[in-house]
Amino acid sequence: MENKKNDSGNDYKYIRISYNLTEDTPVHPDLAKITITPKNQIKEGDSYNTSVITAENHSGTHVDAPAHFLKNGRSIFTYDPNELTFKKPLIVDCPKKPDELIHEEDLSPTLKHYNVDNLDFDCILIRTGFGKYHDTDTLKYLTKNPGISPEAVFYLRSNLPKLACLAIDTVSMSRYGRMEEMIRVHQTAFSANDGLGKPLLFVEDLDIESIPTAGSLEEVMVIPWQVGGIDSAPCTVLVKIKSE
Ligand SMILES: [Zn+2]
Repeated sequence: MENKKNDSGNDYKYIRISYNLTEDTPVHPDLAKITITPKNQIKEGDSYNTSVITAENHSGTHVDAPAHFLKNGRSIFTYDPNELTFKKPLIVDCPKKPDELIHEEDLSPTLKHYNVDNLDFDCILIRTGFGKYHDTDTLKYLTKNPGISPEAVFYLRSNLPKLACLAIDTVSMSRYGRMEEMIRVHQTAFSANDGLGKPLLFVEDLDIESIPTAGSLEEVMVIPWQVGGIDSAPCTVLVKIKSE
């Protein structure tokens, strides 16, 4: 495919970093399995093909909005596309073992490469390397995932005033089976707080192994299913990267 030229004349292309939703999509053990049931089928003599899809709204690659954990938090369907397009993203490599926590110290060395005045990132993508288990070891992927600590979320919000989205290559932003930690991680991200910029969105279950280098990422677009009334939604995520 031919690459397009961006404003500065460099070649760039878009890639998709969300997974396909299938009946085999690993979903959090507390969620219902995805079903995709053919209804009308040409091969059965019908005039056209249709299918019925059932999925909980936190299935597959999806975006968590504040209403997921907060009574008065915003729901994803109220977000404008401009609030879901991130022009200053940063990928942070943070290799983690199963069930490990992501601490401030794992994130700060990357941020320290940048001048304080340049800390205007609006989207941080954490690459733990756990995405390699998405298709190869589903149980491990679902129940042994690394997760961020509430303190590390607070650190990011405190140091990145423009931060609006935190994304990760694990099934959840928080570790499996730890209810209190999970609540604190999400509430720390989603709560309105005078000193901290806008409440974050979480994008979970991303396929980011293929983003070649840290410096190549130019834009992230999160495109949720437009379903009225729900807190969060499965989404397509596109990134614009510089071609090599
Ligand atoms: Zn979720």
